[in-house]
Amino acid sequence: MTKVFEKSPAFFDTFTRKPSMQKTTHYCPGCGHGTLNKIIADQIAELGLQDQAIFVGPVGCGVFIYYYFESASVSAAHGRASAVATGVARANPDSVTISYQGDGDLAAIGTSNAIHAANRGENMIVFFVNNNIYGMTGGQLAPTTLIDQTSTTSPTGRSIVNDGYPLKMAEMMAGLEAPTLVARVGVNTPKNVRQATKVIKKGLEVQRDKKGYVFIEVLSQCPTNWKKDPKDSCDWIDEVVCQQYPLGIFKDLVDERGEVKRRAERVEFDALAEQLGLTTDDEDNTQKIEMLQDELRFKFAGFGGQGILSLGMMVSQLSMERNMEVTWLPSYGPEMRGGVANCSVVVGKKAIGSPAVENPHVLVALNRPSLEKFGPLVAKDGLIIYNSSLIDQVPDTLSGRVYPLAATDLASEAGNVKAANVVVLGFVAQKTGMFSLADLEGFLSETFKKPALLEINLKAARAGWDVAEKV
Ligand code: SF4
Repeated sequence: MTKVFEKSPAFFDTFTRKPSMQKTTHYCPGCGHGTLNKIIADQIAELGLQDQAIFVGPVGCGVFIYYYFESASVSAAHGRASAVATGVARANPDSVTISYQGDGDLAAIGTSNAIHAANRGENMIVFFVNNNIYGMTGGQLAPTTLIDQTSTTSPTGRSIVNDGYPLKMAEMMAGLEAPTLVARVGVNTPKNVRQATKVIKKGLEVQRDKKGYVFIEVLSQCPTNWKKDPKDSCDWIDEVVCQQYPLGIFKDLVDERGEVKRRAERVEFDALAEQLGLTTDDEDNTQKIEMLQDELRFKFAGFGGQGILSLGMMVSQLSMERNMEVTWLPSYGPEMRGGVANCSVVVGKKAIGSPAVENPHVLVALNRPSLEKFGPLVAKDGLIIYNSSLIDQVPDTLSGRVYPLAATDLASEAGNVKAANVVVLGFVAQKTGMFSLADLEGFLSETFKKPALLEINLKAARAGWDVAEKV
């Protein structure tokens, strides 16, 4: 058994977070997190679970647990640890999954994730560190803040009328049918540490034996934000916090519960693709990006109201239907009509690293400011298509292949100037080789249900396609 003042073997020998802090954690002096980490580590080591343990870390003061525990770990987005832990536990049924969350993380932004994981009886142990305040962000009111407790956002104290009652998570979790063990413990006195150690050990055994969900709420000191010294903080837990959050075991069905078995789903991607009909034919579609090997980066720009965002959306949808990777990133000013608008679209054969497009391979500029702004940024071997119906001056600094396209005039001839974006779509499809005319016609037939509108758009697409074939 590890002695009280010995470093647990379940911790890393050195903590690599900061060269100056290789032996110490980032927690403030007197913080309850450190004591809790030590208890968990000791019990993991004692039960021999280190190789099975997978920690899911939160956002908040507990964020750096992956620097301390020498086990597998995953960091979750704010409030999502219980949901991430669900995935971890199901994908790794032999693991001991540990979700470590604070009160902002679990009882505010992540309440629904936490309750549903508990209600499903997932095989995980959740440590809910309740220090009645937002610690990392500087002491704001939390759902767990005590009645009358002051915080930076409740300077006169928490009022029931204004802020509601402190959220008693352990009692709430115990009210659900699925959890196996629910308790509230403290780490502020030797007596409470001994009791917490017993409960934590039992909770980890439940995980070892796959007996379902365990929730352990830990009343933890936050001397920094409580503005008390460490000793007064420990006393305050006994004298004040425990009056509103009584310690105890609220539910214990450990002896009654058996092993909860869930099948770990293994996805056979080839079989799935075949079932969805995503076979060789579809792979051929990705070959249609002819201009570049793997990826095409588009910038569509013009005035709001010219259908710029829809044009990007159409290219994105057509590409998605052909199993390409796609991102679509709109950007527009406060005025949607008449203001500047642009969108960046990236289409690739492989996963896309960033949706931002700084140096487009293809620029479509439907007005002059767009051509002047983005034209010089186009790659040397890129394509620039500008709306020659509205742009009569072209900067002489442009590189790449520059094509005038009288998009507005052609759309007007097709029946409606608003179809200028579809004229461009036809032109882009032909010039890049991404989509056939039949692809476009099929897509437009799905998109426009009114026959009159469909006819205009089919004409517009064909007009753009025909111009592209000739230039
Ligand atoms: S702010 Fe509070 S909870 Fe966070 S590390 Fe410091 S004492 Fe601990």
